[in-house]
Amino acid sequence: MDKTSFQALNCRKHQKKHLQFIQVNDVLNQQSQSKELFYCSSCFNHDLEFKSINFLMIDQILQEAETNIIPKWPPVNNYQLIQDLIDFTSKESELNYEKQIIDFFNELKEQLLAKIDIIQKKMINETHKYPIDNNQIIKKYQEISNILQFKQLLMNEQGNNLQEHSTLCRQFIQKIESQKDKNTELLQSLLTQSNQLQKSFDLEYPIAIKQQLFTLVDSISFFNQDFSQVNLNQSNQGSQQSRISTQNSNKITADLIMKLISNKSNFCSDQFINELNLSLQKLNPLLQYLKLNNIFKENKEPIEFSKISEEKLNLVGEYVKHSIQLTSDQQYENSIKNKMELKQINEIMNSKMNFLNQESIQKFEKWTVEMYPFLKQMNFQNFIKDKNKFDLFKNLGDNNFNELIIAAQKGFFYLNLNLVGTEYSDGQRIFAVSKNKNSEYIITKINSENWTCCISSLDLQKDLKYVFRIQLEKINEGNEFVVGLMRNSISQNKGGWDDYLSCQLKNQSEYLKISDNYGIINLLKGVNEFQVKKDCVIEIRVCLKDKLLEMTDYPNYQYKLGLEDKHKPKLEQYKDLRFYLSFLSSDIQISLKDAEIVNKFKD
Ligand SMILES: [Zn+2]
Repeated sequence: MDKTSFQALNCRKHQKKHLQFIQVNDVLNQQSQSKELFYCSSCFNHDLEFKSINFLMIDQILQEAETNIIPKWPPVNNYQLIQDLIDFTSKESELNYEKQIIDFFNELKEQLLAKIDIIQKKMINETHKYPIDNNQIIKKYQEISNILQFKQLLMNEQGNNLQEHSTLCRQFIQKIESQKDKNTELLQSLLTQSNQLQKSFDLEYPIAIKQQLFTLVDSISFFNQDFSQVNLNQSNQGSQQSRISTQNSNKITADLIMKLISNKSNFCSDQFINELNLSLQKLNPLLQYLKLNNIFKENKEPIEFSKISEEKLNLVGEYVKHSIQLTSDQQYENSIKNKMELKQINEIMNSKMNFLNQESIQKFEKWTVEMYPFLKQMNFQNFIKDKNKFDLFKNLGDNNFNELIIAAQKGFFYLNLNLVGTEYSDGQRIFAVSKNKNSEYIITKINSENWTCCISSLDLQKDLKYVFRIQLEKINEGNEFVVGLMRNSISQNKGGWDDYLSCQLKNQSEYLKISDNYGIINLLKGVNEFQVKKDCVIEIRVCLKDKLLEMTDYPNYQYKLGLEDKHKPKLEQYKDLRFYLSFLSSDIQISLKDAEIVNKFKD
């Protein structure tokens, strides 16, 4: 059915009218099922609910479908879309891409051919300048040898005067012969030059350029490839964003290449960097078509050498050289070990006063050799404050040094003892330790009625003999306290008495007597039972190596208590035993009058 025959059809309802409209939208609707699909102008007039958006002029389809976008077709949810396309086609058609492309290529062909013609002529002219082909070589030979003049001379012979001709020829040959040296030189030079030129003639380079040119031409495109890909992903803004950024990071640009090359650690000259940059920037549009993945290794990026000073950068360079040479050159390693700076550091490391173990010293010495370029930056002159004293310790034999240490330990033991409340039962907070005017520790408890411990800060050493002397400053009738040894390691969760290396004493009618068994209970000296005046000094003696833990009255030594045998092995077994005191009431105050290391205990 062609255009005219369709327009000739009449409305079923209005026989005199031609069909003018067709419903193209809302046809799925139930109500419209019963209505006519085709409308004439009368149908249109009679339909009170007529919606123009639902109808299309048949005429428009027949006349414009070939060339135009039809505003109401196909039915869509948003007709602005079709309107925009209509706007777009009316505007874009003015730009005429096809023509621009054709123009571009025509111009390209023309200019390319013109350029090629010029360079071709230039190259041919080059060959004419130099003795590069046979004709040129012969021509040069002719210039040098004067062979053509010679030929001319011979041909001038008229056949009547051979004598005269012979003279002329002789003169000519003599002249040429006299230039023998010069001619030899010229011909030799010709031969050398020809050889060189023949070798330097290179067809491969122009062929490579031709290939590159073809590649470049192949890559001509008027459409940004990235753009078309981005457009497809438009529905997902988030992933689009991240995709573009990762793409950028993989995109080879002149800037990126320059950044890699101009890394300060390459020490490229500024001139080179600038020239290369200019060249690369020209190639940038082409570079961006290279899609390379993973420019850098995983989790790696260039070291930012540009951010450190020239001096430090040189130091890093020196270190790398040093490190490489160390691994391959034993002699070099030895020479480094002998450097003054390292000897000085090692002397300090090896000082007996550092108490470093041999393994650590060796590790450190190895490290100083590796770090030499950095270490030598330091000036080790006058590094030691008192060289005489330093040397005194250095030269001290092991035995003498140990004696010195023991003497020091004895001298400083009381000073360094430090007494603190344990964590158990909040002892850290409720013990107050002060010193009286005789510099003796006074231990007091504040506002607490729990058994809490106050422990010294030093682990007792196995082979030393210790004496601790305490005296009650204040105690009420019936009050109790505990003195002895406990492990530091239980001090967080337990009271010291749990180790059963203690004695619990009670003030009974002005006398201190044992009130419960916590290990120190065997009466070794004295009558009946241990009892001393409440203000008496009590001495606790310890020698772990000898499994000795005793309590006695000072200075009379009338009574002596020892540890029960079953608890003695603990003295050797436990590694962190410390002196401690413990009491319940806040009304007790005890002073630690003395704590010393002795050579032997008095009887
Ligand atoms: Zn009708």
